[in-house]
Amino acid sequence: MTNGKKIHNFSAGPSILSDYAIEKSSADLKSFSDTGLSVLEISHRSKQFVQVADEATQLVKKLLNLTDDYDVLFLQGGASTQFFQIPHNFLKTKAVYLNTGTWSKKAIKEAKGYGEIDVCASSEDGNFNYIPGNYTISSDADYFHCTSNNTIFGTQIKEFPDSDIPMICDMSSDIFSRPIDVTKFDIIYAGAQKNMGPAGVTLVVIKKEMYNKLADRHIPSMVNYKTHADADSMFNTPPVFPILVSKYNMEWVLNNGGLEGMEKRNNEKASLLYDAIDASPYFKGTAREDSRSHMNACFVFKPEHEGLSSKFDEACKEAGLSGLKGHRSVGGYRASLYNALSIESVQALVDVINKFNG
Ligand SMILES: *Cc1c(COP(=O)(O)O)cnc(C)c1O
Repeated sequence: MTNGKKIHNFSAGPSILSDYAIEKSSADLKSFSDTGLSVLEISHRSKQFVQVADEATQLVKKLLNLTDDYDVLFLQGGASTQFFQIPHNFLKTKAVYLNTGTWSKKAIKEAKGYGEIDVCASSEDGNFNYIPGNYTISSDADYFHCTSNNTIFGTQIKEFPDSDIPMICDMSSDIFSRPIDVTKFDIIYAGAQKNMGPAGVTLVVIKKEMYNKLADRHIPSMVNYKTHADADSMFNTPPVFPILVSKYNMEWVLNNGGLEGMEKRNNEKASLLYDAIDASPYFKGTAREDSRSHMNACFVFKPEHEGLSSKFDEACKEAGLSGLKGHRSVGGYRASLYNALSIESVQALVDVINKFNG
């Protein structure tokens, strides 16, 4: 909210959080629990903060339906640190990667420093506008890595493949957006700042079995997942405030129907927007229909109408729509529809699109 005018926040990341999370954490900035101090000013080992970390862990377990076979870790360094931390721990000879966009490519680039990388399929030939199907994951590799939602290109895996080898997934931009069968995965990681919380914390869900599969190389304590698991993510000072805000945001998810509730909301928002794009004579979606993301909807002006873009930008601004500029590798527009975005905000965008139809 600024000057009383509602801003509709379509930012790709860092991105919209629930009002609940913003309000609760704002209060804790001033006075936290029974400490009489700001949450920023107390020890991460105080009983009050340890309770926050425990609650955050329990919320992840509850939302994802995790069994005790998994550990929940709150780490630093962003999802980008996971790009090398994973191969550093687990790549002995060969790993299989699915290449579906910029983030997959970055993960592949880092992993190449540790062993042979088999790219089982890639959609680079179509500027990453689809999710490849019909590929095989060879079983003689250490793990398979994929990206569930391609934040930049607006594509999303609808059905995860079966894999005989450990399956690792970067879910940075669609974690908690829909129910998933976690038992398929051995590691799930997510930079919080897309759909979970603010920047500064990375969620890692790891199957305990993975600790028995460590590569035979020196693994610094901070890089070893086991270090963090053994210390309940408090081996060193954790990112206290991002964990706190994430906790509140997860509470909001739970109180609003959990992952089933989020999926329903997100499906409604995505249909509303994609239907408007498809019905418009001026715009077209950039992702293939069967691969469209429910988190990031990318669309462009049809070439013959590109001259209208400054008029559209002006209309968006007028309507209080913020953060719609597409990533430079796609151009046009990207509407990020993360959990906390309301259907009213999507309707505000749809109204501007429809007004263009005359
Ligand atoms: C944003 C993003 C990243 C990078 O996250 P950082 O936390 O900035 O390192 C990685 N993967 C995906 C899918 C993303 O959307």
